[in-house]
Amino acid sequence: MDEVTLEMIKMLKTRTDIAKNIGEIKKNLGRGITDELRETNLREKVISLCSNIGLEESIATKFFNFLLNESIKVQSTNKQTHLSIFLKAKSLEQQGEKIIHMEVGEPDFLPPPIVKDALGEIFDKGYLKYGQVRGIPIFRERLAQHVSKKFDCKVTEENIIVSPGARFSIFTAITTLLNPGDEMIIIEPAWPAYKDCALNSGIKVRIINTSIEEKWEPSLEQIENTINSNTKMIVLNYPNNPTGKVLPEKLQDSITELAIKNNLYVLSDEIYSEYAKNNWKSILSYDYEKSIVTQSFSKSHAMTGFRIGYAIANEKIIEKMAKFEALCMTNVSEPIQYVAMRALEADTSKNTNTVQNRLDMVARKAKEMGLDFVIPDGAMYVFARVNQAGFDGTKFANGVLEKGLAIAPGEGFGDYKNFIRISACQNEKILIEGMNILSNIMSEKQ
Ligand code: PMP
Repeated sequence: MDEVTLEMIKMLKTRTDIAKNIGEIKKNLGRGITDELRETNLREKVISLCSNIGLEESIATKFFNFLLNESIKVQSTNKQTHLSIFLKAKSLEQQGEKIIHMEVGEPDFLPPPIVKDALGEIFDKGYLKYGQVRGIPIFRERLAQHVSKKFDCKVTEENIIVSPGARFSIFTAITTLLNPGDEMIIIEPAWPAYKDCALNSGIKVRIINTSIEEKWEPSLEQIENTINSNTKMIVLNYPNNPTGKVLPEKLQDSITELAIKNNLYVLSDEIYSEYAKNNWKSILSYDYEKSIVTQSFSKSHAMTGFRIGYAIANEKIIEKMAKFEALCMTNVSEPIQYVAMRALEADTSKNTNTVQNRLDMVARKAKEMGLDFVIPDGAMYVFARVNQAGFDGTKFANGVLEKGLAIAPGEGFGDYKNFIRISACQNEKILIEGMNILSNIMSEKQ
C-alpha cells in the first residue's frame, strides 16, 4: 500500500510539472486555461479504462476531476478581473489621479433615505446582540412576503436565509450542497465567483461557452452533452453579468426542465432582477425543490457597502446552508438586517429607471463607436467585442486606466480576451466623459 501511494504522489508531481509547462504555453499563445474538448476526450479514456480494469467509474471520474482542478489551479496565475482593475484604480486615486469607474457594478446613487432613519433607530430598538443564524424572524417574514409578491410564488420565512451579500449565499450553496469531485455547469461569460467558489471547494466546473453570434444563448444540446452522473448543479444568472442577457422564456423553461429531469440543483443568481427590461421570469416560479435563488440589497437598493443579501430555497437546503453560516459567522449583523428590513419599505422603481436609462445611453455610445455587442436586456453592463486584430482586453483595460478610465477586461468572465465590460453605474455626465475617453482611444488604435 505504501509503495502504491508514494508512486501516485510521484506521478502527481510529474503531472503538476507538466500542467505548469502547458500553462506557460497557453499564456504565451493567449489561450484560455480550460479546454473542454481536450478534457472530454481524456474523460472518455478514463471511463473506458475503468470498464477495462473493473474500477467504479464515479470514483475514477471524481479523482480525475481532482486532477483537472489541480491543473487549473497551477495555471490560474495573473488572470485579471474587474476587481483587479478596481483595486488598481483605487490605488491610483490614492496617489491623486482622477479615475472614472466603469469597471465595477456599484450604483453611484445613495440607498433609500429610509436607510438613514433606520441607522439611527438601531440602538433604541435593541438590535445589538447575537441573533438567529438564518436571520431575524420578522425580517425573513417580510422578505418572504416581498419575494412571494414580486416573483409570483409562495415562500415562507422557512425558505429564507440571510447572508452578508449574495456572494456569501452563492459560496454557501456551492460548498454545502456539492462534494469534492462533483461537477457544476456554468454558462459563460459569467461572473467569476461561481467558478472560483467551485474551485475552492474541489468541485469541477464544466463550462458552456456562449457567443455573441448566438445572442449569448446556450443550446440545450450543449448542456445535455455536458451532464453526467457527477453533475450536481447548474448555475444560471439572468439578467446576466456581464452580457445583460435575459433568456427567452421557452429556452429557460427547457433548461429548467432538463435540470429537473437530471435531478440537478439550479443555483439561480437573480440579483439583477430589478434591472430587467424585457420579460424576465424567476426560477422560483417553477416551484422546483432543488432550486436556490440568490438575491441582494447591493444593486436594487444601492447598498453594496452594507453587505446584505439572502437565499431562497427549500427548507432542507436552508437547513444545510444555515449550519455552514453558523460555523462561519454565527449570524449576519443584526443592525444591518434591521436596516435592510426597513429598506424593503422603500419604492426603488426610480433606481430601475435610472439604471435602464444609463444603460441605454452607454449602449448607444458603444454602437456609435463601432463596438460589437448584443443590446442588453437588463443588468448594468455592456459586454462588447473589439473587432481589431490581436485585441487584448486586459492590456487595453490597463492602458485605458492610465488615461483615467477603468473598464473590466473580458477574460475575467471566461475565454473572452477580445471583449471588455463597460458598467453603466455613474451619472450620465460621467458616463459620457468615460465613453468619450474610450472613443478617443479606440480611434487612435484604428
Ligand atoms: N452576483 C452577481 C452576478 C454579481 O455581479 C455580484 C456583484 N457584482 C454579486 C452576485 C454579489 O453581490 P453582493 O454584493 O450581494 O455580494
